[in-house]
Amino acid sequence: MSLLEFDEVDKFYGETHVLKDVDLNVEEGEVCVIVGPSGSGKSTLLRCANRLEEIQDGEIRLEGQSISDPDADINRLRQRIGMVFQSFNLFPHKTALENVTLGPMKVKGESRDAANSEARELLDRVGLSAQESSFPNQLSGGQQQRVAIARALAMNPRVMLFDEVTSALDPELVGEVLDVMQGLAEEGMTMLVVTHEMGFAREVGDRVVLMADGKVIEDSPPEEFFTNPKTDRGKRFLSKLL
Ligand code: ADP
Ligand code: MG
Repeated sequence: MSLLEFDEVDKFYGETHVLKDVDLNVEEGEVCVIVGPSGSGKSTLLRCANRLEEIQDGEIRLEGQSISDPDADINRLRQRIGMVFQSFNLFPHKTALENVTLGPMKVKGESRDAANSEARELLDRVGLSAQESSFPNQLSGGQQQRVAIARALAMNPRVMLFDEVTSALDPELVGEVLDVMQGLAEEGMTMLVVTHEMGFAREVGDRVVLMADGKVIEDSPPEEFFTNPKTDRGKRFLSKLL
């Protein structure tokens, strides 16, 4: 059993078939990087894993338990699946520390003291100890995104989903966010990462999955994907990066 399993998943928006018979397994401790052209279904795949979208056929499982079952306890599931988006979505009137403690206090019922001390550890881990009292508008985009990562980690998830988390950042701020993600990977976090950062895919990924037109086209170790793609679609994708 893999930690996160997509089993013949089909997703439609109205008549539009957006995920087509997608099979994908993410193993515990693995960093699986999803690449592919815009509109290929990458965000939809992550959103289905977090039940932000329903699927129409197939099944998605976390630790063997169905996520897609209509009777699944969505709130419990979401605690076990952290997600970080392109837009940071921090609460603007709360400090960095409060953004991180809110979930543990509200959802998990932790005391303020316990939540504060965990949040301080997490802010330290993402390099933001000095910013705990700052409000989002006092932070750079890279700092806000690191708070968003700390906030997701505060729920102690089993897997982290990242959807193009550096795409909205100024180029000079991309590295600090990728470094935090690389650190998490090295600590053994299971991660499903949609990104256009091919350096990250190659260096940090254990696997690269190419999606196109709602389908998984390739699923290979990074070295193999980048040097010797199996499909013409893969070759074309790589040639456009040059
Ligand atoms: P990617 O993240 O790879 O760019 P998406 O998962 O965002 O791709 O989109 C896949 C397809 O689904 C696209 O054709 C997109 O237009 C369509 N789509 C995405 N979200 C919606 C929605 N809420 N309603 C209708 N169509 C959508
Ligand atoms: Mg997307």
